[in-house]
Amino acid sequence: MTEEKDKTPKTIAELGEFGLIDLLTKNIELTQPSTVRGIGDDAAVLENGDKYLLISKDILLEGIHFDMVYQPLTHLGYKAVAINLSDIYAMNGTPTHILVGIGISSRYTLEAVQEIYKGIKLACKRYKVDFIGGDTSSSVQGLIISVTVLGSVDKDKVVYRGVSLPNELLCVSGDLGGAYAGLLILEREKAEFTANPDMQPDLTGNEYVLERFLKPEPRQDIIKIFKDLKIKPTAMIDISDGLASEIKHLCNYSDLGCAIFEDKIPIAKQTYEIAHSFKMDPTVFALNGGEDYELLFTIRQEDYDKIKNIAEISVIGHMNDNDSGINLITKSGSLVKIKAQGWDHLKK
Ligand code: ADP
Ligand code: MG
Repeated sequence: MTEEKDKTPKTIAELGEFGLIDLLTKNIELTQPSTVRGIGDDAAVLENGDKYLLISKDILLEGIHFDMVYQPLTHLGYKAVAINLSDIYAMNGTPTHILVGIGISSRYTLEAVQEIYKGIKLACKRYKVDFIGGDTSSSVQGLIISVTVLGSVDKDKVVYRGVSLPNELLCVSGDLGGAYAGLLILEREKAEFTANPDMQPDLTGNEYVLERFLKPEPRQDIIKIFKDLKIKPTAMIDISDGLASEIKHLCNYSDLGCAIFEDKIPIAKQTYEIAHSFKMDPTVFALNGGEDYELLFTIRQEDYDKIKNIAEISVIGHMNDNDSGINLITKSGSLVKIKAQGWDHLKK
């Protein structure tokens, strides 16, 4: 056995989520003429007449993605749909249909499951998506919700994770780190409640970040802005695992490096204040917190004038050639290599 072989990861924990997906899905053969893109992007892309059909799937597990101590059930149903829609918007597409698979343990009452469905239906109504099927099972432990979303996109409008070029502008929608700030607040209140069950949780003043975590809204509005302004991003991904992780994906897909400027990363005031109250760095929330469901994309330099006055879009840096790597230019001007920590549930 060579020394190199010894270093090959042997366990799922060593591989992490992305290493595992790569390992399991390499050499998958695509034989259907209708398959335009299989595994590897936010959604698969299939021929469908004069448009492309988009399909994506996300799974939410109790104890991993949500905690029943503080996750309102209606919001959970809503979120399960919202995070799937986000993957369709990340292809510059329009979501059209969903299917919902649910595994229910005996701990859940009929009313509880109905609450979840109330949230699912609410999200469908809000985003004009038809709920067309699913599957139902009992579960030995905990609740499982898996949503499959279908969408549609004009063939010439589809945006993949990567065909960016050096010097293109790296942009992000909304603000980052809020969902992680919300999670920290909820975890703090849970710990206090566990220690003293008479205590009433105090969540006032933190509404923005709590909503960011508990009930995220996918960025349908940004796709509309692209359409109205006649912008087609050169690459796009949604931020489910934190900016650092998604930037790494965007760069890898285009075989490029990039420079991000710390002072350009959009962070809401409430997120900033919460980070400080936990004696943590707000930039770390944006880079390594997860679940913001914003869009990260690259645009051509000549499109800058179109977006420069759009409050919901921030230019945070630019693409570079591959040799330069993925760099953060800090507020003090020093250059730091970005390591993607992200939300990797499988990595130790
Ligand atoms: P996202 O964060 O946008 O949902 P993921 O990082 O989960 O994307 O997945 C990356 C790509 O790998 C996607 O194209 C997805 O369809 C594919 N993928 C993820 N898990 C599996 C799996 N267990 N088997 C096959 N393909 C998978
Ligand atoms: Mg995605």
